[in-house]
Amino acid sequence: MDNNSKIPLKNGAHIAIVGGGPSGCFFANFANGLARQLGMDISVTIFEWRNFAGHDKRGCNMSVGVLSENLLQKLDGVGISIPERCIQTEIKEYHFITREDRISLHHPIPGHKPRIVTVFRGAGPAHSHFEHDVSLDNFMLTTAEGRGARVIHEEVKEVVLPKRPEDKVVVVYGHDAKELHADLVVGAFGINTPTAEIFEKMYFGYIPPRTIRTCIIETPLDRDFMDRKNDSNTIHVFALGMKDVEFASLTPRGDYLTVAIVGKRDIGTPQVKQFLNHPAVLKILPGGEDVLKNCCCVCFPKISVSTPAQPYTDRLVVIGDAGISRSYKNGIESAFIVAQMAANTAFRQGVSKEAFRRGYYEPACSIFARDNLYAKIMFKLFDLFASREHQLSERMGYTKIHKEGWVNQQINEGLWKLVTGDAPYRDIFMDLFSPRLQFALLPVTLGGVGEYIKERLGLKTNG
Ligand SMILES: Cc1cc2nc3c(=O)[nH]c(=O)nc-3n(C[C@H](O)[C@H](O)[C@H](O)COP(=O)(O)OP(=O)(O)OC[C@H]3O[C@@H](n4cnc5c(N)ncnc54)[C@H](O)[C@@H]3O)c2cc1C
Repeated sequence: MDNNSKIPLKNGAHIAIVGGGPSGCFFANFANGLARQLGMDISVTIFEWRNFAGHDKRGCNMSVGVLSENLLQKLDGVGISIPERCIQTEIKEYHFITREDRISLHHPIPGHKPRIVTVFRGAGPAHSHFEHDVSLDNFMLTTAEGRGARVIHEEVKEVVLPKRPEDKVVVVYGHDAKELHADLVVGAFGINTPTAEIFEKMYFGYIPPRTIRTCIIETPLDRDFMDRKNDSNTIHVFALGMKDVEFASLTPRGDYLTVAIVGKRDIGTPQVKQFLNHPAVLKILPGGEDVLKNCCCVCFPKISVSTPAQPYTDRLVVIGDAGISRSYKNGIESAFIVAQMAANTAFRQGVSKEAFRRGYYEPACSIFARDNLYAKIMFKLFDLFASREHQLSERMGYTKIHKEGWVNQQINEGLWKLVTGDAPYRDIFMDLFSPRLQFALLPVTLGGVGEYIKERLGLKTNG
C-alpha cells in the first residue's frame, strides 16, 4: 500500500453530500448503515437546494420515474418500501412500436408478473394538486433523515480541497457563505445543474460526462381513450427510425401521460413536433404537435452519454449521474449500485484517491462504462433496421406469426430486457444479435432486402 491508500474514515468523521437526489440519499443511507454496523459514530449532511414537495417546476428532478422490478427488490433489501401515496401507476404491459407494427412484450419467465411502478420525482406536473405528498425524492430525503442524515436546504457554492491529505475539505454553502469542514465530500449533484463546474474547477482531474438534451412532456391522460384501448397501464416504447430520435416512450403516471424523447443529439422543439406528428404516435396520442399547447409542462433534461474523467480524489468521490451511470435506462438503480460501492469503499478501504479508484471507479466502469458501449452499438443497429422500412417490420411480422417458436421467445426476451432495463446491455446484445438468431432470421432479412431492392428499382406495385 502506498501512502495515498491510507486515509481511513475515522470515528467522529463528517460526511458532506452535495445533492439530495437518489444517489445522495442512497449514499447517506449506506453510510449510516455501515457506521452502525462497524460501531462508528459519524455525521452525514445532505445539501439539497430544491424543495421537492413544492408545487412548481423547480421542485422536479426531471425523469420519467419508472421504477424497475430490480430496483424495487434492491430497495426492499435495504428496508425501503415506496409508499402507496407515491405510486402513480402499476405497469402491466410494454408495447414495442415500429413504423408499421406493434408487439406486446411479456416477462421471459412464463406466468411471472413483475412489479414495475411509475412515480413523480417532484410534486407532480405543473398545476397538478395532490392531496398527499407524492414526491419520490421527498420520500427518499425524509427516509435518509429518518436514518440519521441531516438535510440542509441550501446551495453548495464552493468546495475547497485541503493542501495536505490529513486535513479536511471545506464546503461553502448558502447566501452567507457558511462553511462545513468534512472528512469526505460526496458529489451527488447530477447533470442538470451547473454544480459540475465547481468540481471541475478544483482541478483534481474531474471532467463531467458528456451529455445530450432529451425532452419530457407531461400531458393529461385521456383515460376514456386509453381504457378503451386497454392502454392505461401500458408503456409504449417507439423505435421509428427517425433521423434525430433514438427512441421515445409514452408512460402513464396516474392521471398524466409522460412523453419522453431521447435523441441522437440534443432534442429541441422541431424534433418533438416531428415525433408527436408521426402516424404511429398519433394512434396512441392523438393531437400531434397540439399536445405541446395543451400539456402541463415540458422540460429538456440532460442524460449522460460518456464516462467522466477521474470522479474521485483524496477525500472526494463523485457518484450517480455526475459519476458513472448506466446509459439510457434505470438511472436510479445504477445510482443505488454506485452509492453502495462508494460507501463500502469509504468505510472499509478509506477515503484516499487510490481506495476510490480500486473500490469504486474500476468496478463501476466494468459494470456500466463497458456495458454502455454495447448499448451504443445496439442502438445503432436498431436504428439501421428501423430506418429501413422492411427490416424491422418483417422481423416483427415473423414474431407474430410464429408465436410459440424459439425465435419469437428470443426476440421477446431481448426486447423485454431492453425496454425494462432488466439486464446488462451485453446480455441484451447477445440475445438480439446472436449468430443463431440472425441465422434463423436470414430468410426474413433477405426478404426485407429483396423488398427494398424492388422498391428502389420501381418494381413494387402498391396494394
Ligand atoms: C428523460 C429522462 C428519463 C429518465 N427516466 C428514468 C426512469 O424512468 N427511471 C430511472 O431509474 N431513471 C430515469 N432517468 C435517470 C434518472 O433521472 C437519473 O439517473 C437519476 O436522477 C440520477 O440521480 P442523481 O442523484 O445522480 O442526480 P439527480 O437526480 O439529478 O439529483 C441531483 C440533486 O443534486 C441537487 N444539487 C445539484 N447541485 C447542487 C448544489 N450545488 N447544492 C445543493 N444541491 C444541489 C439537485 O437539486 C438534485 O436534486 C431519466 C432521465 C432522463 C433525462
